Amino acid sequence: MSLIVQKFGGTSVGDIGRIELVAKKVAACRAEGDDVVVVVSAMSGETNRLMALAHEIQERPLPRELDVLLSTGEQVTTALLSMALNQQGVKAKSYTGSQVRILTDNAHTKARIREIDSDRLIEDLKEGYVIVVAGFQGVDGNGNITTLGRGGSDTTAVALAAALKADECQIYTDVDGVYTTDPRVVDGARRLSKITFEEMLEMASMGSKVLQIRAVEFAGKYNVPLRVLHSFKDGPGTLISMEDNSAMETPTIAGIAFNRDEAKLTIEGAPDVPGVAYQILGPIGEANIEVDVIVQNISHENTVDFTFTVGRGDLARAEEVLNQIANEINAGKVTSDSKIAKVSVVGVGMRSHAGVASQMFAALGEVGINILMITTSEIKISVIVEEKFLELAVRALHSSFGLEKEPKDENVREEE
Ligand code: ADP
Ligand code: ASP
Ligand code: MG
Repeated sequence: MSLIVQKFGGTSVGDIGRIELVAKKVAACRAEGDDVVVVVSAMSGETNRLMALAHEIQERPLPRELDVLLSTGEQVTTALLSMALNQQGVKAKSYTGSQVRILTDNAHTKARIREIDSDRLIEDLKEGYVIVVAGFQGVDGNGNITTLGRGGSDTTAVALAAALKADECQIYTDVDGVYTTDPRVVDGARRLSKITFEEMLEMASMGSKVLQIRAVEFAGKYNVPLRVLHSFKDGPGTLISMEDNSAMETPTIAGIAFNRDEAKLTIEGAPDVPGVAYQILGPIGEANIEVDVIVQNISHENTVDFTFTVGRGDLARAEEVLNQIANEINAGKVTSDSKIAKVSVVGVGMRSHAGVASQMFAALGEVGINILMITTSEIKISVIVEEKFLELAVRALHSSFGLEKEPKDENVREEE
């Protein structure tokens, strides 16, 4: 007998018919004798709907109030799924995050889980209940409802799996696994049967929102075997786990991620003196704006141009801060561009293969795409390009790295 945590995303619980199908799936797992803890998201579109209601009243509602509102979406689906299970003759109980006591910090709308009190759940499991827990929410030390950031139900599921030492955490969604790139963008995208935590973390961080970044971090940290599967189609899905050293050869590139949510800012003619990077980026950090890619041009006439990217939502604020800095340090003009995108190739195989960067640049050059900025890490190369070239760039790279094709060695990433 195993303990399985199953998470169902928004589209999988999008209406009553689907909730009944999910109940059937959970019941089948239970019938095989496994203990099951289910985590559900809000019905698809519900979190956006709630957010829009809040914004009808206030441009910037207090995050504490937003959390009280947004957490209701998941409470609805837990109750409905429990009812559907009971209706199918399966004993089930629903819980909100605070009832379980998923304790988080107090960073409303982006809280981090600190601790999960699993005693009550263990008692219920012993009594034969299926437990249905609301994803995306917790409670802080003072009893305030918190939420874990968009897509946070994935993190609830992984954290519960870690706390309960589950045998597997299954993330059921509207695709049948993790693909070489978003299958909505590239027709030839291929399902991976395996990917390492490290690669998945880079993919998620670089924009593949199939899993929330924190969920992958958590799964890696606590070594929770994680599998992404289709809610309503049978199949092996994608297993995300530690690096498999038994594979004879790992493909160089696992996948391609992309992100439209970036904007770039340039400050021209900043004095080329020690400490100038800090003078520019210090106040940006103090304004709580995260900086991603940074480029400093070679000095000419004792000045430098300094370019960096931020999330699009932070652009207006960053521009304000940067104009102020430009004044203070006697720099030239500040310009910005929000029509950019980041494309990244990711793979642990990069560690042992040279030439990935040149292949990437060649593939983009061949289709006439100009690279605006470049940044690398050990297992990732990212480029910033004009947004209008995003899809062309992803397709060109997908094809150049041969990702549509099955790997030569069947043991590598294909069928386990
Ligand atoms: P859920 O509501 O179930 O949490 P999400 O919308 O958060 O589902 O995640 C599933 C979506 O992630 C897919 O529909 C797909 O378009 C997108 N996606 C982006 N990158 C990838 C990828 N590399 N592999 C699979 N899906 C991806
Ligand atoms: N309902 C939340 C969202 O839409 C959390 C989730 O679905 O994981 O972001
Ligand atoms: Mg999701």
